[in-house]
Amino acid sequence: MEFALHGKKLLVTGGTRGIGRGIVLAAARAGADVLTCYRQESEAVDTLTAALKETAGDHHVVRADVGEIAEVDRLVQEAADRFGQLHGVVNNAGVISHIPFGELPADEWSRIIDTNLTAAYRVIHQALPLLGAGSSVVNVGSRGAAAGIPLRAHYTAAKAAMTGLTRSLAKELGPRGVRVNVVAPGVIETEAFDAMPAERAAGLRATYAQKTALARLGTVDELAGPVLFLLSEHSAYITGETLNVDGGI
Ligand code: NDP
Repeated sequence: MEFALHGKKLLVTGGTRGIGRGIVLAAARAGADVLTCYRQESEAVDTLTAALKETAGDHHVVRADVGEIAEVDRLVQEAADRFGQLHGVVNNAGVISHIPFGELPADEWSRIIDTNLTAAYRVIHQALPLLGAGSSVVNVGSRGAAAGIPLRAHYTAAKAAMTGLTRSLAKELGPRGVRVNVVAPGVIETEAFDAMPAERAAGLRATYAQKTALARLGTVDELAGPVLFLLSEHSAYITGETLNVDGGI
């Protein structure tokens, strides 16, 4: 599936691994110039940087912890310095943990809310002067936010709040031609599956073969495609929407 993003300037948070990496590479291959960030040094940073060097366009991979307001501000300033404007923002960086609610400490609640939700607020807030008519913001939520998931009250609270943020901003920014949408993934098979014990990975695949209409997990490319659609002019009359990408869970 090809969406033309030629010449578009994009900021994608959390692009070194998983879904974000898929979005960054798909967008760069579709002709966009992409600036992305990560939190910790890893081989993934080096391999993404190398892959982007091989891809036409003006791409940048920078370290910035979006859980820290000052680092978000620095990140968006870097996008402003390099690109001068933005046509698209993807708030993808996210973190999760699995903790019984009765044992959930306040600092873990804050970490999850800061990285999944407050980061999106701050990225959009700081990027606003760079976003002109025709630009698009995509917030990566979670299908689990609408369903609810035991041990993840903090995570689903943050992801559900992204929907409220998106709905309100769609209305507030719509008159100036800025669209804001959510993509809500079901379970997407990222390289995290390679890192887990084979038995657990097989168990997850079997569970979601039962739970989804398409009888399988999703791929990173199957998530990147809908994000590129929402960044592109093919979705010019779509805003405030939540697009579930979940195989019919
Ligand atoms: P991964 O953990 O595989 O990748 C997360 C990416 O975000 C990495 O590049 C990571 O970089 C970066 N990141 C994490 N925290 C920060 C931070 N504080 N500052 C900057 N970058 C950061 O996640 P997924 O690809 O699985 O998930 C991506 C998004 O999709 C998340 O918002 C997640 O909640 C959502 N989602 C994913 C689902 C799935 O099945 N995979 C299902 C539903 C929602 P680093 O290596 O430096 O940590």
